[in-house]
Amino acid sequence: NRVGGEERFLELFEETLDLADFAGVFFDRIRFPSPANGLKEILTCVCDDCLERSGGVIESLRGDLQRLLKEPGKAVGVEAMPGILRELFASIEEAIIFRTTSVSALLADYARAARKRNLDIGIDLFPPSLARLVGQDYTELSRHVDWIKPMIYCKTMGPAGLPMELLSLAKILRELNGNISERDSLWVLEQLTGLDLPESFGELASKGLTLDNYDRELEKLESLDRGGAVRIYPGFEAVAFPPVCSVDPAIVGEYVRRTLNRGYRGFTLSWDIRQIPPANLEAVGDFLAGW
Ligand SMILES: [Zn+2]
Repeated sequence: NRVGGEERFLELFEETLDLADFAGVFFDRIRFPSPANGLKEILTCVCDDCLERSGGVIESLRGDLQRLLKEPGKAVGVEAMPGILRELFASIEEAIIFRTTSVSALLADYARAARKRNLDIGIDLFPPSLARLVGQDYTELSRHVDWIKPMIYCKTMGPAGLPMELLSLAKILRELNGNISERDSLWVLEQLTGLDLPESFGELASKGLTLDNYDRELEKLESLDRGGAVRIYPGFEAVAFPPVCSVDPAIVGEYVRRTLNRGYRGFTLSWDIRQIPPANLEAVGDFLAGW
């Protein structure tokens, strides 16, 4: 929302689009900071322009959250936490909408510049369970793009990876309520997301999530209104890039099988093709040859 900054970036973007005869453009990181950035950053942005543009909504959010965080030692049992958090999200709905509207307005400006040049427009989005936390609303954003790559990384200990983002959220829950165990904090997240999480932080970090969770995220996405025409190419890991992520041919093949079984016509192998071992690419090729 920074006044002045937006216009300059958009100019640079348009200049870049005119450098070559591109077929399309793929937007990434159009969002607010994620849980992996820590509690303080998730609650941004509170710059003067955001405070002004939100018409007081962000100012009052800041007050509400400060009051909530300043009640130390309130002995809340773990069973009560999902309900309290759902109430909290409901009570800050206006702020969440301000954030999703800010993100989609920004994307709209860039998409318009790309559309003028007849480019195919794609966007990288957080998994459906976490998207609204970073200001991404699938329904709103799908109006501006031709295709979406939902990032459904079940095995990635890096930003946007479900293991890292959920681990960061679980740690934040434990910062807010010192009475709960690691497993308790994961249980709270299971209630809120409908995902199936491991027993401990160590297991989440080392093994990630099972691929049943990949299907659960796709189910959520399929239940959202996406305005019909937008194509979906689910994104999953295919790289060997330790310690952030290492998947073997069996996992890559399993991702492909699940994606095609749900009726998708394409998928996005992530990330850098130079980091994808030939055996993983062969697993994809073998699977497609037999499909
Ligand atoms: Zn701001």
